[in-house]
Amino acid sequence: MAERVIPLLDQRHVDTLALRDAPPMVATGLLGDTLGRPLRDLRISVTDRCNFRCSYCMPKEVFDKNHAYLPHAALLDFEEITRLARLFVAHGVQKLRLTGGEPLLRKNIEVLIAQLAALRTPEGAPLDITLTTNGSLLTRKAKALRDAGLRRVTVSLDGLDDAVFRGMNDVDFPVAEVLAGIEAARAVGLGPIKVNMVVKRGTNEHEILPMARHFRGTGIVLRFIEYMDVGVTNGWRMDEVLPSADVVRLIAQEMPLVALDATRPGETAERWGYADAHGRHAPELGEIGVISSVTNAFCQDCNRARLSTEGKLYLCLFASRGHDLRALLREGADDAAITSAIGAIWGQRTDRYSELRNTVGAPTQARVEMSYIGG
Ligand code: SAM
Ligand code: SF4
Ligand code: SF4
Repeated sequence: MAERVIPLLDQRHVDTLALRDAPPMVATGLLGDTLGRPLRDLRISVTDRCNFRCSYCMPKEVFDKNHAYLPHAALLDFEEITRLARLFVAHGVQKLRLTGGEPLLRKNIEVLIAQLAALRTPEGAPLDITLTTNGSLLTRKAKALRDAGLRRVTVSLDGLDDAVFRGMNDVDFPVAEVLAGIEAARAVGLGPIKVNMVVKRGTNEHEILPMARHFRGTGIVLRFIEYMDVGVTNGWRMDEVLPSADVVRLIAQEMPLVALDATRPGETAERWGYADAHGRHAPELGEIGVISSVTNAFCQDCNRARLSTEGKLYLCLFASRGHDLRALLREGADDAAITSAIGAIWGQRTDRYSELRNTVGAPTQARVEMSYIGG
């Protein structure tokens, strides 16, 4: 077999200058990258700030009082975000996820949600708009978010044991307030609600079963996320990753599970349904998801792009550099020029970091922090 050359680093430099000169392209909704992957999902980080200090994301020692957050003028404003989102939608994006940092810390976030909720796909369909939050402000904000047009939320919660959770968020935030936030979201009809639990071996794996028992049969989908080597500040070690296969095995010993089909291509989570006595999925018991970003890469279907708080477009969670769309916006580029730039960037995309990590080892370039581009 001929030897295959695997590009370890993304050597392309589509800088602002090149973006300005991108060949004209009309959005058809059929944009594909070099591996034929469409662009369907845009994750928008609305702030780089957070009121938690989860050790796997914004460790206290690094994100301390001396850390320089972005000044307000550097952030994309709501009109800029909405304009870019509209142009991405014309290229085929159907799903928007607001993230951060902690997105509910962005002032008047509901105003942005109302603007995004008014967008339509070329076929006239509303977008699937969601938001990932640590839940700390949800009790206060759930109704305003729903009224603004948000459909659903994903809430992060790493355990039910108060001491474990307070330790992981590292700001002593209690479990009960996050659970109250989830309840508030449910009460105003934000659903289906998903709960994300990052599993760190040696830290919270004993919380897997209590979390599964707690959310089984509630209509809330609990998803277990493998601890990832995002960024460079969290001191990631492979031996702290608990493979999703172990999570599924552990739960299935007590609460039998059956594999479910993916709901759509490019879905990050593998779905498992709780089974009835006959080994068939019992919909009333619900399902769990596992996101195996480390042990089972899903790059071949990856249709996600990420827009950072200051308007840089990242094509992979593990990318080392982004493409500066804010510069184009603020230079006065028209919609046609920005549409062409987005088309050129995605058209040249080669990213498949997780697959490479599992075949040839982790590429070694500097990586962007999760709190900067969101999950
Ligand atoms: N602050 C919000 C929250 O925590 O939900 C939104 C932003 S947070 C960066 C988005 C998601 O990324 C959360 O579910 C969080 O648990 C997850 N995350 C952060 N760092 C991670 C890591 N190193 N490995 C796996 N998941 C991580
Ligand atoms: Fe904040 Fe979310 Fe990161 Fe935790 S995971 S530090 S809540 S941004
Ligand atoms: Fe997508 Fe990059 Fe994750 Fe692969 S590693 S699934 S390309 S974000």
